[in-house]
Amino acid sequence: MTDKKEMPSELKERLRAEFNKEWRKELRKSIRAKERMKLNRQKMPERKPEERNLDFDEVNLGLDAKKAKKEAQRCLDCANPQCVMGCPVGIDIPTFIKLIEIGDFAQSIQKMKETNSLPAICGRVCPQEIQCEAVCNLKKATGVPVAIGNLERFIADYEKSKGDVYIPQIPPATGKKVAILGAGPAGLTVAGDLARKGHKVTIFEALHVAGGVLAYGIPEFRLPKKTLQAEVEYLERLGVEVKTNFVVGLTATLEDLKNDGYDAFFVGTGAGLPNFMRIPGENLIGVYSANEYLTRVNLMRAYEFPEYDTPVFLGKRAAVLGGGNVAMDSVRTAKRLGAELAAIIYRRSKVEMPARIEEVHHAEEEGIEFHFLTTPIRYFGDEKGRVNAMECLRMKLGEPDSSGRRRPIPIQGSEFIMEVDMVVVAIGNSPNPLIPKTTSQLNVGKWGNVEVNWETMATSMEGVYAGGDIIRGGATVILAMGDARIAAREIDKYLNSKKRKKKRTGGKGKKSKLQVQQAKRKTETEDVEA
Ligand SMILES: Cc1cc2nc3c(=O)[nH]c(=O)nc-3n(C[C@H](O)[C@H](O)[C@H](O)COP(=O)(O)OP(=O)(O)OC[C@H]3O[C@@H](n4cnc5c(N)ncnc54)[C@H](O)[C@@H]3O)c2cc1C
Ligand code: SF4
Repeated sequence: MTDKKEMPSELKERLRAEFNKEWRKELRKSIRAKERMKLNRQKMPERKPEERNLDFDEVNLGLDAKKAKKEAQRCLDCANPQCVMGCPVGIDIPTFIKLIEIGDFAQSIQKMKETNSLPAICGRVCPQEIQCEAVCNLKKATGVPVAIGNLERFIADYEKSKGDVYIPQIPPATGKKVAILGAGPAGLTVAGDLARKGHKVTIFEALHVAGGVLAYGIPEFRLPKKTLQAEVEYLERLGVEVKTNFVVGLTATLEDLKNDGYDAFFVGTGAGLPNFMRIPGENLIGVYSANEYLTRVNLMRAYEFPEYDTPVFLGKRAAVLGGGNVAMDSVRTAKRLGAELAAIIYRRSKVEMPARIEEVHHAEEEGIEFHFLTTPIRYFGDEKGRVNAMECLRMKLGEPDSSGRRRPIPIQGSEFIMEVDMVVVAIGNSPNPLIPKTTSQLNVGKWGNVEVNWETMATSMEGVYAGGDIIRGGATVILAMGDARIAAREIDKYLNSKKRKKKRTGGKGKKSKLQVQQAKRKTETEDVEA
């Protein structure tokens, strides 16, 4: 991330036009760069570890307006802002930050939303430390980058706290219909971008709520559900329709939707298929996939059982396998649910952990144990089939593997037993297979990922685009959003170039499953009304 990349000329021009505005010139002159470099980074206030590890309330508390303006002063307003190149969706970072510095928060959020319709989410969960903040010129000069993520969160939360959410002007309806499959960050981003172009957008989501991993995976203490809900409501106000409990491939196939008059598609169905280690004892009671565990707790609110009707086992000795954000969320959840031992079991060392640094730091503060260079090789259970121990092996690190990280090598004879009553397997996910399986013309790679042209996100089917975890495997929110922005741009081009064909509607030939279902629902409603 530290290499200087060439900025696309369109982006360069856009940034340059803002950079050359009179108010920006004045602001740059008002405090010299040397003085800005002396300012300290504003610390994000957070709840005390011993209090927060007992509940699900948010850990970070956000900057207030005074701190945000101070932090914004640190930004050097660079002529060549590398931070923008570090952002997969190309946010005009210096402009939104300088607008904070002068206290024009309303304009700042508008600037942000030109490129990012989910700022309150990105401000909370994006790994800025390896993206925009990693290449920030202030980091090169002083070692401490501008807190871009914290400012992004500030501006989004500020707007919501005022209850005056900016809704951009939508052009007249184009008459084109787009179906988005999956309401994760990829699907929500495409939806926002295309609704703003005047297209009629419908999202089809398998679960009963929108948000994807943001709803069922990332816990409340990192991303409150009300924050996500507000972002979804914003899209609805742009005219996006969200149809939940609609499993594409079961409720209706992509072909069915095509027959129902949708002109273009975006597949953003994510990677929700958990990977397991395939070791003996994995079927014992108490061995969960992270997806199941987190879904029970986050989405189904198992921590409020029996008021909510989904239970979860409250392990006292919980081991979580893996070193990513998913593992960190699972282990911190287990701690909050009363585990006396909540431990990460990771086969490499701390340096190789893919989790965000902030999450690892928070976990350490909250009393999570870390067992590095360790891997389980089998589980043991009691007479009732419940896990009660696991056998582990110690590892050492060898040469780097294809991931660039040092390969873990088992140390023979180092086996030991660890007593556990719950295990959460968080070693990665694979793409959801249903749409690839039910859409024969869609080319799929060897990992089950939908194949795309990476320049356009177009799949092997005309008018069908894809992005996010369904093409990458488990990745990040902002990469999913970056794919989505490219796909939205290309879908818009595709729709504009498409000749206005007369839509094929019912009457002729076989009815689609969707039409049959809609007819059935209509009859049922009529029955009730009768
Ligand atoms: C616990 C956890 C923590 C994470 N933490 C972070 C983090 O801190 N920072 C970060 O950047 N990334 C994080 N990630 C990764 C990030 O959340 C994902 O990369 C991102 O959500 C991918 O977005 P997506 O839209 O492609 O897919 P998803 O978020 O998976 O959304 C896909 C949606 O499609 C729906 N769907 C699936 N099949 C169908 C179907 N057949 N019909 C209709 N709908 C369907 C699913 O129900 C889901 O709602 C985390 C992931 C997990 C699991
Ligand atoms: S690179 Fe850093 S200092 Fe320069 S404009 Fe971007 S955020 Fe500001």
